[in-house]
Amino acid sequence: SAAMEKIFRPKSLQLRSKQQIWQESTEGQKMLEFRRSLPAFKEKDALLTAISENQVIVVSGETGCGKTTQLPQYILESEIEAARGAVCSIICTQPRRISAMSVSERVAAERGEKLGESVGYKVRLEGMKGRDTRLLFCTTGILLRRLLIDRNLKGVTHVIVDEIHERGMNEDFLLIVLKDLLPRRPELRLILMSATLNAELFSSYFGGAPTRHIPGFTYPVRTHFLENILEMTGYRLTPYNQIDDYGQEKVWKMQKQAQALRKRKSQIASTVEDALEAADFKECSIRTQESLSCWNPDSIGFNLIEHVLCHIVRKERPGAILVFMTGWDDINTLKDQLQAHPLLGDPGRVLLLACHGSMASSEQRLIFDKPEDGVRKIVLATNMAETSITINDVVFVVDCGKAKETSYDALNNTPCLLPTWISKAAARQRRGRAGRVQPGECYHLYPRCVHDAFADYQLPELLRTPLQSLCLQIKSLQLGSISQFLSRALQSPEPLSVQNAVEYLKVIGALDENENLTLLGRNLSMLPVEPKLGKMLIFGAIFNCLDPIMTVVAGLSVRDPFLMPFDKKDLAESAKAQFSGREYSDHLALVRAYEGWKVAERQQSGYEYCWKNFLSVQTLKAIDSLRKQFFCLLKDSGLVDHNTDNCNRWSHDEHLIRAVICAGLFPGICSVVNKEKSITLKTMEDGQVLLYSNSVNAAVPKIPYPWLVFNEKVKVNSVFLRDSTGVSDSLLLLFGGNISRGGLDGHLKMLGGYLEFFMKPALADTYISLKRGLEELIRM
Ligand code: ADP
Ligand code: MG
Repeated sequence: SAAMEKIFRPKSLQLRSKQQIWQESTEGQKMLEFRRSLPAFKEKDALLTAISENQVIVVSGETGCGKTTQLPQYILESEIEAARGAVCSIICTQPRRISAMSVSERVAAERGEKLGESVGYKVRLEGMKGRDTRLLFCTTGILLRRLLIDRNLKGVTHVIVDEIHERGMNEDFLLIVLKDLLPRRPELRLILMSATLNAELFSSYFGGAPTRHIPGFTYPVRTHFLENILEMTGYRLTPYNQIDDYGQEKVWKMQKQAQALRKRKSQIASTVEDALEAADFKECSIRTQESLSCWNPDSIGFNLIEHVLCHIVRKERPGAILVFMTGWDDINTLKDQLQAHPLLGDPGRVLLLACHGSMASSEQRLIFDKPEDGVRKIVLATNMAETSITINDVVFVVDCGKAKETSYDALNNTPCLLPTWISKAAARQRRGRAGRVQPGECYHLYPRCVHDAFADYQLPELLRTPLQSLCLQIKSLQLGSISQFLSRALQSPEPLSVQNAVEYLKVIGALDENENLTLLGRNLSMLPVEPKLGKMLIFGAIFNCLDPIMTVVAGLSVRDPFLMPFDKKDLAESAKAQFSGREYSDHLALVRAYEGWKVAERQQSGYEYCWKNFLSVQTLKAIDSLRKQFFCLLKDSGLVDHNTDNCNRWSHDEHLIRAVICAGLFPGICSVVNKEKSITLKTMEDGQVLLYSNSVNAAVPKIPYPWLVFNEKVKVNSVFLRDSTGVSDSLLLLFGGNISRGGLDGHLKMLGGYLEFFMKPALADTYISLKRGLEELIRM
């Protein structure tokens, strides 16, 4: 009978029979037909054979050919067929949270199942996974975390690392770990999947692993660069210096500064700069009947995008438009602008959608739907639509030429990267998105000479980010010597940047002198923020002033909620200064602003409050949600008591908050000398430094603190400090640095170095007596 069958039939067969029922339904038939039409299907047998015969293979193929949704399924199906359905465990990593979720949902739907049956997903703080889940999509960070507790990935039969061409830091890191793991797990299969054709690099990294290419099919795409876009759409170019609009010129100057900074920061940008100079393209403005805007290499031209979109909607054939932007914030800005437009904001004619890492999944599904007849779909997307997500009906692509890392779900939350030029490979990828269903068009909103100056491939993330978080992770995964480990990477970072990171971790007390993880270091590795911010959180929890500290940390890891519009800068600065009162702290100003917003929210006047005070609602909301995540994590790791009454006992104590901020930001300190008419600030490495004008400490006649701790310094022409807080001598002595480094003596030696440099030997005496007092205490 059926009941008996259920009991005695092996689970693998149960899975199989369910599949058969689904495949026989009309819907299932249709789905199967679709799946068979994908280019990957023709390669199915060859791929499966290659996987069974080799421990590692590299699979490449045009985006949309079926790598992500099909290949893991082929493996699952063949395992079920071979009666190993109940014992196989396939893990497929995605660089982004949102793609792990959307892909798993799609694959479950293709199998006629609900999520959490044979297919599931797991991302930080969220997941859908059942007892029978055999195919798990997760973020790369999640797999790295699993390796923390399960070094050999026991029970896992297949690891699929997707989107390796992106060369994210986590992926490069994971590849080193897996390369070490393979000899210990000879039956484990590793499949690397990449969109573009640099498969050879990965193949040789894994000792000449075989590569399989899935030949794709795309239609030709006509390419336009800025020059002919302007011509086509009726824009006129005028040299920039013919405009004597003071405001505009001011903007230009600021951008010049940013440009100089970028030039130092990145080689890629400087080639673009040079190319523009050579082509004499740097000084141009774009004038239409209605508006004047200047195209320049340092900003996203919202008016230009609007203009091009109008042109397509009015003049071109039907088909969805995909616009590549750099991130969540400029997508929102553009969306607001377009919604106010008479044509583009008309829902009867245009369906305007956003696609970025932090959107809701309900919103995300709309992207794949076909709009009603006569309605044009416009999707504003980040670079995740380059490869991880495929929108089928796209015919037009508009490419702003830049990209920025979104850092919401990343294990190492590196905040606030500047938008930078994409690579030629990325531009080609963006262009290719237009030719999926028929011949398409691509509008690159930059001159051809800029494109020609792009790097071939983007520099791997490992080589362009600070390594503190990564080094911490290497230690918490017990992977041995940091520099030895990193020397085995696909492309190793410079020894100096590794050395800097290690020294930094020692200074803040995450590593001891022998590079071993301390207890603090272990706790920091659990928190998804930079080590210094993690330290601040932990101190906030220990000293029971958690709420304000969580606000500071969330603010520093999302972005600054204080808006500084160019034309109302003075007003905005004085609005911010009001929050500072006499506290001489940008961090406390942020806390006050956030607290005020929460109160206003409760009175239903959150928007007015933000408008009045030049605050970004979006950013405050993001801070709000990040705070909630921090709280859960701190509670889970036991750093906050389950009885949570205590953790805000001292939250009103401004001095304590200051101390905790100091504990986190040290060694980011500068000395303050108040002069008659000015204030001189100095750091040990840079000598004299300046404050950004939007700091609350920039406009005051005098700073009544001998020190400022700061979050970040940026070199433009001089060194500028961003976000600072005044700190007293005693706070610095007690909270600056790491008492456990070399014991109290070691601490004294290090602080002594600082104090001597700043010619404050008297403080060292104070410190010695303080230290004696502490030692007495310890003896008692
Ligand atoms: P690849 O990983 O090679 O870029 P995918 O496996 O992601 O390709 O996608 C294969 C095809 O499946 C795409 O061309 C698209 O048509 C379809 N597809 C993927 N995800 C969805 C979805 N969520 N909804 C509808 N179709 C989808
Ligand atoms: Mg894919």
